[in-house]
Amino acid sequence: MIVLGIESSCDETGVALVESTGTGVPVLRAHALHSQVDMHQAYGGVVPELASRDHIRRVLPLAEDVLARAGCTLGEVDVVAYTRGPGLAGALLVGAGVACALGAALRKPVLGVHHLEGHLLSPFLSSDPPQFPFIALLVSGGHTQLMQVEGVGDYRMLGETIDDAAGEAFDKSAKLLGLGYPGGPALSRLAEQGDPAAFRLPRPLLHSGDLDFSFAGLKTAVLTQVNKLADALQARRADLAASTEAAIVEVLVKKSLAALDRSGLQRIVVAGGVGANRRLRAQLDAACAKRGLRVHYPELSLCTDNGAMIALAAAMRLQAGVQQARASYAFDVKPRWPLEQLSAG
Ligand code: ATP
Ligand code: MG
Ligand code: FE
Repeated sequence: MIVLGIESSCDETGVALVESTGTGVPVLRAHALHSQVDMHQAYGGVVPELASRDHIRRVLPLAEDVLARAGCTLGEVDVVAYTRGPGLAGALLVGAGVACALGAALRKPVLGVHHLEGHLLSPFLSSDPPQFPFIALLVSGGHTQLMQVEGVGDYRMLGETIDDAAGEAFDKSAKLLGLGYPGGPALSRLAEQGDPAAFRLPRPLLHSGDLDFSFAGLKTAVLTQVNKLADALQARRADLAASTEAAIVEVLVKKSLAALDRSGLQRIVVAGGVGANRRLRAQLDAACAKRGLRVHYPELSLCTDNGAMIALAAAMRLQAGVQQARASYAFDVKPRWPLEQLSAG
């Protein structure tokens, strides 16, 4: 079975072809991505209307590219999958509209995928795929959640952020340091030249006894330091970046270990854009190695938004029998859609 997947929830247009053979992990045949980051950079954030228009321009050329690279024709596609939510309504509608139009034209069924399920399952495309059950640390631009994952479609929320997401904490701190948008990767690069112990920054909710997160206070603490440093900021930027990254990573690692402890599970999967962070990977690897626990990540190129994870999630849902693709082409999108509300059907 060949699944064509389309991702358009935010500022990346992604298209992919995944092939499932009925057993084992589906295989990625090809994927293509266009990031709108350069376009939105001038505005310091994603402009929804510009995002939608750009998805319209990109999605079909990307689909043609993917089909050509996979050596596959449209007629060979069995199911068309798209991101149904959460995300920007106008952006989601582009992917949903194109997917349903393709499905109708090809007389093939379509399937709407939950974006976070895509992130969550993306490590299955890595060279070291996990096995169920596992703890998932989902750390993206809009979400920070710890989940217990028993199988495809079986997700129990253990804790989540009560305010900013981890990626947002990276991006907002990076902005305060003058590192542009989205500044997470830039902050992380700068941090490599700094001293993570140079500034004492808060570790919000570290000892809260639950598995929730809070990052809004950290951003305020960074702002206070930036103001205090004033003209001296330039010389201390790398130290402040390193201290910020260390604060975020310490909380993520400690809470992840607590989730593993409580659940008694032996593996953790890290997904979402912040999963590309080198300090997070190094610290989590070290902590888990010490305890004999396994950590799985997506390939670096599949940490942030992409079409591969959407095609994969659709293929895995179909393969596990938790959902059927529909041959009806009226579509809706769900800009707000908590993962726990993802129904089996
Ligand atoms: P969501 O999936 O919650 O809707 P999103 O799709 O915008 O949000 P992703 O694409 O998964 O999020 O990830 C983007 C985020 O990851 C941004 O906040 C970005 O700064 C952050 N990020 C990417 N690479 C790194 C890195 N190396 N270090 C820290 N943060 C990073
Ligand atoms: Mg993005
Ligand atoms: Fe995402």
